[in-house]
Amino acid sequence: MSIYDDDVFRMACDQFQVIADYLSINKNDRERLMYPKRAIAVTLPVHMDDGSTRTFQGYRVQHHLTLGPTKGGTRFAPSLSMGETAALAMWMSWKCALSNLPYGGAKGGVTVDPAKLSRTELERVSRRYMQEMIPFVGPHTDIMGPDMGTNEQVMAWFMDTYSVHQGYSVSEIVTGKPVAIGGTEGRREATGRGVVYLVERAMNMLKMDPEKCTAIVQGFGNVGSVAALSLAYKSGVKVIGISDAHAAIYDPKGIDIQAAEQHVFKKGTLRAFAQDNHVDPKELLMMPCDILVPAAVDRVINGKNAGELKCRILAEAANGPTTPQADLILEKRWDEIFVIPDILCNAGGVIVSYFEWVQGLQSYLWTEMEVTDKLFRILEHSFAQVIKRAKAHKISHRTAAMAIGVERVLKAKKMRGLFP
Ligand code: NAD
Repeated sequence: MSIYDDDVFRMACDQFQVIADYLSINKNDRERLMYPKRAIAVTLPVHMDDGSTRTFQGYRVQHHLTLGPTKGGTRFAPSLSMGETAALAMWMSWKCALSNLPYGGAKGGVTVDPAKLSRTELERVSRRYMQEMIPFVGPHTDIMGPDMGTNEQVMAWFMDTYSVHQGYSVSEIVTGKPVAIGGTEGRREATGRGVVYLVERAMNMLKMDPEKCTAIVQGFGNVGSVAALSLAYKSGVKVIGISDAHAAIYDPKGIDIQAAEQHVFKKGTLRAFAQDNHVDPKELLMMPCDILVPAAVDRVINGKNAGELKCRILAEAANGPTTPQADLILEKRWDEIFVIPDILCNAGGVIVSYFEWVQGLQSYLWTEMEVTDKLFRILEHSFAQVIKRAKAHKISHRTAAMAIGVERVLKAKKMRGLFP
């Protein structure tokens, strides 16, 4: 049994095998491409506020080093495992390659529920995690960023811990930092903004009028809240459903997204927001809408509910929201549901992280307009390539997107050769 043995890792491998079959990749190259280059597991002893000491498990997986340093987010979640971390790292590899970024994929995190930690405990867990990772990461080795359960503040603690160890400020060790300590303008909004840019492109292609469209967004954290705000106030789409881990709200008249954001800012969750309109969270994904945006956890669209989706555009803001079983169903429904696959849809985050890293290395800062303009240009290029390939080869958007990513990594591995 491999150390990665886990349902999410198996799902990432199954997805990869579909692409490898389509690209006729031979067995030796398949395994080389699929398995992570390095995986690090650490134990974090942490002083808790009540005087006790608890130990937490931490991980970092660096998927491949062929195109440059590895890059990827840090997830703090109660169910995180090595296998899930490896799956997320593999998806990051294909995502970075699709966007032509000079990175391999990575991912890391701690098995912890951050909502159950005080602020001081969260700081100690964050600092201890970075401390344990110092031998394995660096601005030219592996650059961390935020993911579920972590935020700008956690990135600031990571950066400070690494810098104290080096004896000088190393802002380029993490991305997604606050602007005040070397973060880039536009990073916090980048993923959600990118999702909505691509939704607008799809609406345009499908000749859908945004003013007449409705949207449902699952997850109201960094990505989901920015996507919902952008859809409502920039694109003019009526957002009729939102949810988080505690509540799901559905209102066909439209939800006041700014009020929801303010509520979450003050109370931390949607639990007590618009209580008259609460619905079963599982049902929310199946409600009729034009645009469905899963922006929370993986595998929410599966073999059981993919046939029940009633959306025209499925914009995968989360990583791995759709299982391979669901993909088989969605492939048959290709003329009903336009899928924007995750490695394209949520790439805005890593693209602007790349801009932040480049700015950090050069100590040269760009404006938010420069950042957003460059972001949209990369997304536009990737979107056009995916659509062109899917049409030309009569394959799904996911197969097209992943194939472009996998092919680039394979080509680079072949050119560099195998040492010794
Ligand atoms: P976050 O921690 O800021 O927010 C996660 C949200 O999902 C919260 O509102 C949480 O309550 C909600 N949630 C958790 N479990 C849920 C469930 N079962 N049902 C409904 N809602 C649930 O995380 P984020 O940074 O917004 O990331 C969301 C997704 O987007 C993840 O899959 C992440 O990997 C992916 N992603 C994030 C970024 C980024 O830049 N932050 C970039 C690319 C992809």
